[in-house]
Amino acid sequence: MIVCKFGGTSVGDAEAIARTATIIAARRDRRPVVVVSALAGATNGLLAIAEQAARGQLIGALRAIEEMRERHLAQTQLLLAADQSVADDIASEISAMFDELAMLADALRTLGDLTPRSLDAIASLGEQISSVLVVAAFKLRGLPATHVDARQVVLTDERYTKAEPQPDAIAEAAQRIITPLLRDGLIPVMGGYIGSAKANGVTTTLGRGGSDYSASLVGAALQAEAIEIWTDVDGMLTADPRVVKGSQLIERIAFDEASELASFGAKVLHPNTISPAVTKGIPVWILNSRRPEGKGTLITFDAPRRAVTAIAGKSGVSLVKVRSPRMLLTEGFMRTLFAVFERHRTSVDVVATSEVSVSVTIDDAARLDELILELRELGDVTVERNRGIVSVVGTGLSDGGKAMACALTAVGDIRVHMLSLSSSGINLTVVVDGEQVSPAMQRLHAAFFGTDATCV
Ligand code: ADP
Ligand code: ASP
Ligand code: MG
Repeated sequence: MIVCKFGGTSVGDAEAIARTATIIAARRDRRPVVVVSALAGATNGLLAIAEQAARGQLIGALRAIEEMRERHLAQTQLLLAADQSVADDIASEISAMFDELAMLADALRTLGDLTPRSLDAIASLGEQISSVLVVAAFKLRGLPATHVDARQVVLTDERYTKAEPQPDAIAEAAQRIITPLLRDGLIPVMGGYIGSAKANGVTTTLGRGGSDYSASLVGAALQAEAIEIWTDVDGMLTADPRVVKGSQLIERIAFDEASELASFGAKVLHPNTISPAVTKGIPVWILNSRRPEGKGTLITFDAPRRAVTAIAGKSGVSLVKVRSPRMLLTEGFMRTLFAVFERHRTSVDVVATSEVSVSVTIDDAARLDELILELRELGDVTVERNRGIVSVVGTGLSDGGKAMACALTAVGDIRVHMLSLSSSGINLTVVVDGEQVSPAMQRLHAAFFGTDATCV
């Protein structure tokens, strides 16, 4: 069997969902399990509604709910026009979910407090709705689709908004629920991104962009032959095409390269997607749902060894520096320091140390104030917000050629606040001012992949 995941733009409207049906029809004999995101933009809309309601702006929130309801119902009508009674049934099922959303918004207005748990209850509606719509659209196009509630399969801990999946429980649930459906020749369709806490059954989410992660979790649970991530670009490219013109398709890339790129800004893949696939050795494809005939990108263990495979970058990063003369030669300082980040469930991307100071970058500043308070007990703390990181990634980066020196030359006069080579030697990262991320990526891309590339 294979897992096919369709992102927000690939199920963004009736036309896109119809294309998705055609892609799945061509894969029927490979026994696909389909994982879908919410319609493009729906999750952002739902989170904005939750915040608005909790701020007490119920009328605005209700207006946004009605706009979202109209959009979904209009696409439902377009998709299911061939059978009006099916269209009416699905429309009322979807409408009931928007009624539930309106009730949740009202409750939030009363409480005035937006907990991660209620955020997940609201954010999960996007995938709950899209999956119901996709099943109906598939059935109407002759595909034997059947809905699977992702919350029965993707079992997690209780870290709402960033839940940690429980692979053994997921494997058990997937084999119990999904395998018999495949055996019966059905096409299971489930929402990505959402799950439920194993301990209490309450809805959780895997973090933004988490549908890719759902797909690889299900793929690993069912020992899939392949995991296909269908999106709005031709595959993994040498840089984000929204930032760099002329970025090129990478036909084959190694798991560890793809994983580094995803963690350092290549949004085309959720950073956690690779790990379950690697554990089971399952190849991951990235494909364009608007151009299914394209070659796409294949992510596997054996890919060509290149000095530089791609460039990634992200802004909105905070650089935290802890300076402590006491650190000198003290055992356990690092452990104490990282325990602070662990307690606040904040993951650290890049680290650099000297004898008396440690610098780290963090992406998620939600707990920054609490972190600073605790870190102050270890030394002087400074925080530089609005930084960005830019990474040059390639399995052959440390092979001794000129790539590394050339990368630093290409960054030129852009101010570098920190520099780090990953321990695996495949990722050279510079920390720059947030607004310098795009120029740095463009310079690096031109140097390695441009028509007048100087670094090849
Ligand atoms: P989906 O909704 O299908 O999950 P996303 O928006 O999450 O799609 O991811 C696709 C986007 O990722 C692309 O439109 C592109 O702008 C961005 N992206 C960032 N880095 C890369 C890269 N190296 N290669 C391809 N796309 C990238
Ligand atoms: N819909 C979710 C999001 O926008 C998950 C996903 O699309 O992968 O974050
Ligand atoms: Mg995505």
